[in-house]
Amino acid sequence: RAMKIGFIGLGNMGAPMAANLAKAGHSVRGFDTASVVVDGVEPVNSATEAAEGAEVVITMLPNGDILRKVAAEVIPAMEKGAVLLDCSTVDVDSARDVAAEAEAAGLLALDAPVSGGIGGASAGTLTFMVGGAPEGFAKAKPLFDIMGQKAVHCGASGNGQAAKICNNMILGVTMIATCEAFALADKLGLDRQAMFDVVSTSSGYSWSMNAYCPAPGIGPHSPADNGYTPGFAAELMLKDLGLAQQAAEGADADTPMGAAALALYRQFVEDEDGRGRDFSAMLLRFESRGRG
Ligand code: NAD
Repeated sequence: RAMKIGFIGLGNMGAPMAANLAKAGHSVRGFDTASVVVDGVEPVNSATEAAEGAEVVITMLPNGDILRKVAAEVIPAMEKGAVLLDCSTVDVDSARDVAAEAEAAGLLALDAPVSGGIGGASAGTLTFMVGGAPEGFAKAKPLFDIMGQKAVHCGASGNGQAAKICNNMILGVTMIATCEAFALADKLGLDRQAMFDVVSTSSGYSWSMNAYCPAPGIGPHSPADNGYTPGFAAELMLKDLGLAQQAAEGADADTPMGAAALALYRQFVEDEDGRGRDFSAMLLRFESRGRG
């Protein structure tokens, strides 16, 4: 069944996601402050206009502050029973506050951050991690199936964001551990390929080593084999590690490795000075022993 969808935030991720929904036959109205044109998506002039009459309003925005602002605008414009579906990566508190406001206005609210990046958004193979009421999840499921290959219902509002930042905290930490181990192996005269062959089939394996090896020429093709063109830019990892530490502080959780990863990526991004390379380029930092 074709649905009426409002899509707000047509950036690197939002544009291909909206295009896939339109291609699948849904009626999509899109709004972005940067007036973007997307195949099959009817452009409108405000977030309110995108939200009016929509059964589902999807947001794909840079951060929690912008999400709060946009939500305050669209919630009053939406019809009771409609779904406010935020796919941005934002802080857990913003996700929970926005969901509470939406529910108070008679809407269903979901936080559904994604993994899979721009490639996954274009190919319609994203993974959604979803927080919110089961009724909302059921209504949005056909849309998850178009934009992605997997949607995991993680529980109440905010739990999608919680799953996302926990996953990416592990990813940041294992990438750093993998990079520093390669740098140590170099110093000890251990061949990188030999190290990969051992670790990728031993207890030190991880996605960072096996699927996304930071050393060029080793393992499956990865950004390391392409001059560290992202992929997943170090800035985005820095954002997610910041959200993880913010959540940890708010919840009084002890996350020393997450804190160390945040500090290392903060320094790395500062040293990058706008070069925008992939987060696996952290290997270069350890090759040069970093600064200081
Ligand atoms: P982006 O900066 O390309 O897109 C954000 C869009 O929002 C921009 O087009 C911007 O003009 C628009 N926007 C900003 N304020 C607005 C407003 N008030 N009203 C309407 N539009 C507004 O970012 P992106 O890469 O598409 O990422 C979007 C979200 O997805 C972020 O939260 C990011 O953390 C998350 N994410 C990104 C990736 C990735 O690989 N790029 C992967 C997973 C998750």
